[in-house]
Parts: sequence; structure tokens; C-alpha cells
Amino acid sequence: MLVVYSNKLLKKWQAGCRVFCNIVVTRPDHRENKGLHVHEREHCKQWKKRPFSHDLRYWLSKKYRLACAAIAYKKQAACSGNIKGAAESLSQYYRLGISAEEAEKEILQAKTV
Ligand SMILES: [Zn+2]
Repeated sequence: MLVVYSNKLLKKWQAGCRVFCNIVVTRPDHRENKGLHVHEREHCKQWKKRPFSHDLRYWLSKKYRLACAAIAYKKQAACSGNIKGAAESLSQYYRLGISAEEAEKEILQAKTV
């Protein structure tokens, strides 16, 4: 994973994002945010596992996007201890149409994709 510290290319709500291959953009003020790094590292692993299909599936399939994001947030929450915050973010920002309660269940049940 290559991390570029910048405020560019990120949506207002994002502290970080895998933007291309295994390249992640992280806000400079989140340099020490271990949970965020673990989250983005998981997204990089998902891309590495399916380099030719991951991005398209992630974009088009709600089910695949949920599976990928839920495990990334599970690993992040294991670092931060903030499962409620993880569930809130998963429900709000991943175009899934699920509540925070449903997101929390998905995070708790998440397994590696
Ligand atoms: Zn994510």
C-alpha cells in the first residue's frame, strides 16, 4: 500500500480512500489514525485479490460493496473500538440503503471477501 498524504481527491466526509491500485490518499491530519490505515489496507488487499474485476464489482454490486466495506470497517473498529461510528459511516456513505443498526450487524458478521 502506498499512502499519499493530501486533502485532494477526497470527498468532504472521507479521511482516506483507495484511489487506484494500491494507492491510498489520506488526509495529513489522519497520519496517525491506525484504524483508517487498517481500513484502507483491507481495500487494497481486496483489489489485489481481484485486480481486474474488483473496481467494477465494487462500483456496480451493492452486495459486493457491502461485503468489502463491512470487513474493512470490522478491522477498523477492532483498532478504534468505535463500532457505532463505523456502522454510521457504512450506512451513510457507501450507497447501500441500510440503517446504522443493519450496518452494525453486517460489520459484526463480516468475513474476508
Ligand atoms: Zn472503505
